[in-house]
Amino acid sequence: MASISLPEPIRQPTIKHTRLFINNEWVDSDDGSTFETYNPSNAEVICTVSEAKEVDVNKAVAAAKRAFDRNSEWRQMKPSQRSVLMNRVADLLERDRLYISSLESLNNGKIFSRVYSSDIVRCIEAFRHFAGWSDKQHGKTIPVDGDFLAYTRHEPYGVCGAIIPWNVPMIMLAWKTAPCLATGNTLVLKPAELTPLTALYFASLIKEAGFPPGVFNVLPGYGHTAGSALTHHMDVAKISFTGSVPVGRLVLKAAAETNFKNVTLEMGGKNPLIICQDADLDKAVMMAHSVTFAQGGQVCCAPSKIFVHANMYDEFVKRSVEMAKSRKLGNPLDLGVEQGPQISKHQQEKILGMIQTGVKDGAKLLCGGEKICGSAGHFITPAVMTDIPEDSFIAKEEIFGPVLLIFKFDTIEEVIERCNQSAYGLVAGVLTNDLNKALGLAKSIQAGIVWVNCFFQLSPAAPFGGYKQSGVGRDLGEYAVNSFTETKTVYIKEPSS
Ligand code: NAD
Ligand code: MN
Repeated sequence: MASISLPEPIRQPTIKHTRLFINNEWVDSDDGSTFETYNPSNAEVICTVSEAKEVDVNKAVAAAKRAFDRNSEWRQMKPSQRSVLMNRVADLLERDRLYISSLESLNNGKIFSRVYSSDIVRCIEAFRHFAGWSDKQHGKTIPVDGDFLAYTRHEPYGVCGAIIPWNVPMIMLAWKTAPCLATGNTLVLKPAELTPLTALYFASLIKEAGFPPGVFNVLPGYGHTAGSALTHHMDVAKISFTGSVPVGRLVLKAAAETNFKNVTLEMGGKNPLIICQDADLDKAVMMAHSVTFAQGGQVCCAPSKIFVHANMYDEFVKRSVEMAKSRKLGNPLDLGVEQGPQISKHQQEKILGMIQTGVKDGAKLLCGGEKICGSAGHFITPAVMTDIPEDSFIAKEEIFGPVLLIFKFDTIEEVIERCNQSAYGLVAGVLTNDLNKALGLAKSIQAGIVWVNCFFQLSPAAPFGGYKQSGVGRDLGEYAVNSFTETKTVYIKEPSS
């Protein structure tokens, strides 16, 4: 895709779809329920959206099940044709890039320029990548003992469910939907209750691209109703979930209590960024700042513990405070704004509460961590904290807000030990010019991704997911293709040789 200069966002994008999308039709929820969706920059209602509950989940799963019937159009479709449809979706995302980016920014509070130049690009590349997998789900032939031809087939599960969070709605939609459909499954997707709008618009692109009815369905609604019904459904063969650790636990429990549906979980973390003695100080300060405060800290793979070598610690802290104080907050649709609001009042209060807990536990708050006086939006000024006791709550648990926590270390051995004490292991970052340190840390740190001299580097071709309590299974690349397919072994008796 050619990189284009940034266009003006659409300030009031027309809301085209607010109802449930089942069987390629827009329908009201069974009991007519709706809920409001907000603009987090000014706390105003954007529109009301139909609210799916258990009955609606049953309807959508039934449609997805029919679409997966043995003789259905979808099951009969050639893999190469699935690939054509997936690429068509990518083309439509490119066509509507400005509209979707504006809508995502409006409903989520993400900086428009970032959605336009990054999030939406990631969605498009995911659809293109997985389009290519449609006809490449190779099994193996296995040289077993005896006169047998043994081979494996990778077959779709059938009806899958996807439950996604509010922080990167379109990226999460793409990471689940693209591998799920490329492998021939059907899908019921529940977007987060705080950000339903882009998923609903995306559904119209699925229909326009020519996917048969029932292959892809969208149900806006709450977790404890619609989400829970999906995870407990006996006809759902797989759930791919991204969200918080407590809800991930509920999803796995629901699977265990019902049909042992296959479950993939992508959850939060407490991600370290290690700045070694030899790293360039200017670059290190800039990187820690930009990745920690990206999207107001509402990124699952943002660093939440910055370990800085003792030799540069004081200077690093001083410059980080200066940089945090100069960060520009405001309307995410305004160009030049670096940070928008937190997603909701609830999140805003939760983050402010965690900062206070940290201070009570003995940490120093050097700047920020405050609401913006007089604003109805859920803003929090970028905070920098030091002297955080290692066993305190904020040192161990994700804040999911704009808070840079700085820790001092002396030796590589020590920092590895301190990182690996975490109950989580989503990602880690390392800044060093010393090859041996880089290789040693990359090998020793328990995390699903280790970024060396880069951060947030992602490709649809390479797996994403967490160690320990950050997740089960992987999204993206061949790993995601495997995670959306069952493996069947076939033995065929051959004539004796
Ligand atoms: P959340 O767990 O509250 O909600 C995630 C989704 O689960 C929502 O759609 C919600 O409606 C649904 N849900 C809630 N209760 C449910 C239930 N009982 N049964 C079924 N579904 C239910 O998470 P959130 O607040 O939306 O998102 C923030 C969290 O997501 C953070 O912890 C963040 O780290 C994590 N996250 C992880 C990744 C990743 O890939 N690892 C990516 C983005 C966000
Ligand atoms: Mn939540």
